[in-house]
Amino acid sequence: MKIESEPKFDNSGLKDKKREFKISRIAGVSLEQEEEIIELLEDSSDQLKDIPQLYSKEGIEIFEREKSEEELSLIETILKNIPGFIKKYDGKPLDMQPENFHFLETKSHDKDGSEKKYASLPAGFHLPGTTFIGILPQRNRYAKAFTLIHEALHSNAFYSLTYSEVDTKKKFIPRRAGFKIFRRKTGEEYFDMIDEAIIEKLTIRFFDKYIEFDPAFAVSIELDSDNDEHAKTEAACSPNVEIIDKITEVIYRKNKADFESKDQVFDIFAHAVMTGNILPAARLIKKTYGNRTSFAEFGELTKK
Ligand SMILES: [Zn+2]
Repeated sequence: MKIESEPKFDNSGLKDKKREFKISRIAGVSLEQEEEIIELLEDSSDQLKDIPQLYSKEGIEIFEREKSEEELSLIETILKNIPGFIKKYDGKPLDMQPENFHFLETKSHDKDGSEKKYASLPAGFHLPGTTFIGILPQRNRYAKAFTLIHEALHSNAFYSLTYSEVDTKKKFIPRRAGFKIFRRKTGEEYFDMIDEAIIEKLTIRFFDKYIEFDPAFAVSIELDSDNDEHAKTEAACSPNVEIIDKITEVIYRKNKADFESKDQVFDIFAHAVMTGNILPAARLIKKTYGNRTSFAEFGELTKK
């Protein structure tokens, strides 16, 4: 994995552009070509046509339900605050609307009245390269808010394609998503766990800062019988977060002269997810763990 030589983008004449498209960059083409290609790809609705096939044989539409007023207001609060939140990490906010969020039931009936079950999926998902976010039924309002924030942050993270040869044909294929690196030959996704961990930790930060005490969450979303403190702890805890906490802890301990806190170390990782520049985080891992291959090993250990 040649981290040191990345990224191979044409940065000549790149100004501080507003991000209109989900795809952040395309490697291996000139900046001018890149802009044209991104527009073309985003304009075509082909990506969205694939969604039913990807996630359910019957199509996703029959599972979608209306959002409640409370859910709409929660989504609006999330979308309103994302630009300010990711700016700290030099992220470029994506133009997203509540319509990009789709609440899906796990059971439905098709036209002839027969019952259809939705394919098993995680609690929420986003389709890379599109602004499509799917939200499945949630345990309680904490889980719901965390899932909405989590998927919205994934969508706002860096996403790039590369134009390269696959089975003798040139194709656009995913290259990077947040901290993840796609390996063309094997289809593996390196650093998947790290990417998830960073998004999960950012989700907690976002929730604490903007959502927990916002009326959209505090009073308008239906209250659960669950104990609130317990529901929050449950939504916030994950093995991935423990991993990134350990990594940042060790990096901080071994590089105390460079950082004021563990949080400052985490910010380097969050920056990588939002900008696609993983070099500073890669260098830190190499420096801390002390050998030349350690970053690649990290990728191997945390792949999907
Ligand atoms: Zn995720």
